Amino acid sequence: MSTTVVPNAQKSSITMDPVFDELGFPKDPNNLYLQTVATMLHAAEVLDLRHRVKIILAQPKNEIMVHFPVRMDDGHHKLFKGYRVQHNNALGPYKGGLRFHETVHLDDVKSLALLMTMKCSLVRVPFGGGKGGVKVNPREHSAAEMERITRRFCSAIMNMIGPEHDIPAPDVGTNAQHMAWFADTYIMSNESKEANAGIRVVTGKPVEFGGSLGREKATGQGVVDTLVELLPEVGIKVNGMRVSILGYGNVGSWAGRILYDMGAKIVAVADHTGAIHNENGLDAHALAEHCAAKGGVKGFAADAISNDEFYRTKVDVLIPAALEQMITDREAKMIDAKVVVEGANAPTTPAGDRIFNERGIEVIPAILANAGGVTVSYFEWVQNKTSTYWDIEQVDRELNRHMVMAARRTVLARQRYKVDLRTAAYIGALDHIGKAYAVRGIFP
Ligand code: NAD
Repeated sequence: MSTTVVPNAQKSSITMDPVFDELGFPKDPNNLYLQTVATMLHAAEVLDLRHRVKIILAQPKNEIMVHFPVRMDDGHHKLFKGYRVQHNNALGPYKGGLRFHETVHLDDVKSLALLMTMKCSLVRVPFGGGKGGVKVNPREHSAAEMERITRRFCSAIMNMIGPEHDIPAPDVGTNAQHMAWFADTYIMSNESKEANAGIRVVTGKPVEFGGSLGREKATGQGVVDTLVELLPEVGIKVNGMRVSILGYGNVGSWAGRILYDMGAKIVAVADHTGAIHNENGLDAHALAEHCAAKGGVKGFAADAISNDEFYRTKVDVLIPAALEQMITDREAKMIDAKVVVEGANAPTTPAGDRIFNERGIEVIPAILANAGGVTVSYFEWVQNKTSTYWDIEQVDRELNRHMVMAARRTVLARQRYKVDLRTAAYIGALDHIGKAYAVRGIFP
């Protein structure tokens, strides 16, 4: 099939598939949703995926937008905007995190939901893709206000989600406590003898309330499992490996701590409060404690550096684990790393990706590298459903098996189709979904 290239998109390294015209997409090359769909369609083209599957996957099945009022501590009410996007459920219930952040908006949530569909398919967990969020800055609210926001958001979308239909989880700005409030609200509002089945409406819960051992560190652990599987391809050993990390929240700090315990040297870390450096290696555990107490890396006993100096730090591996679109062509030109492992979702823009390709920097894409979180979420859901609980060894072993198989699937696709790892990972995911649609057919 032929493709056209729009002038702006060429500047941003996006090839416009005819599907964009067919579905009437606005052509803003900086739009994250356009970028995400373009990446998916490029892989679909290489794979020769059927047109009907391409158009289904290019748009989410459902886009839910809600507004809800919440009482603040001082007695006044504030109106919040929330989203839940259900991208695809061909392989199982919709699954994906809830983000609480002041920049949350529809197109980003749509992109993240699409990435979830790809991720679940690539690691072969029987879930589809979804994502949600509330436009709120959690740092501006007390714990009591956050609890009311979470509960009221749950009640606003409750009729459109469910333990066998759509299962949220933590993401940026949410954690196990938010999931506990969410599940409690859902259970209390759905009175029946099977009410406790409602506990499966979210994953990433506290261990005391149906959570799985190993879920909190799962995404970071999966980043490390993937990296360890693929490092021999680039001739790097973990022991003594130099690492920099962008974002030291759940994903970044767990990846950092696990790699540190394996003998890697974490030489630079940056987040929204600043950037720090220590040539001899930062203590990853002490830094995680500092971030939890102080809200960021600023003030940790290390050299403060600028963001540009952070990107220029010579490392073997850079782990972006913050937000989307942080590595543009500007940052990609500065980065002095052999491998970039995407702990965050969509951290690299297409223009950044092009620079990495030109410079021979290997990128392990998000849909592979950060799929550990949803994989252990699936284990949590299975444990809740069967009322049996796994020990940490079983969780880690099963997680490693899923990550290693997904990494091998990706490498095989790269060899077979002679593409970069990102395209190969999408091919690994799309092949599975394409086969499901081929046997299911399209209703009616
Ligand atoms: P988090 O809220 O725990 O941490 C986010 C981190 O990003 C913090 O360190 C914050 O300081 C940093 N950050 C925010 N804005 C920044 C900026 N402008 N510059 C530099 N740093 C900034 O979130 P998380 O759960 O660790 O998620 C991080 C990424 O990983 C997101 O893309 C998320 O979608 C993805 N992800 C998370 C999970 C999970 O299980 N939590 C699973 C898969 C993917």
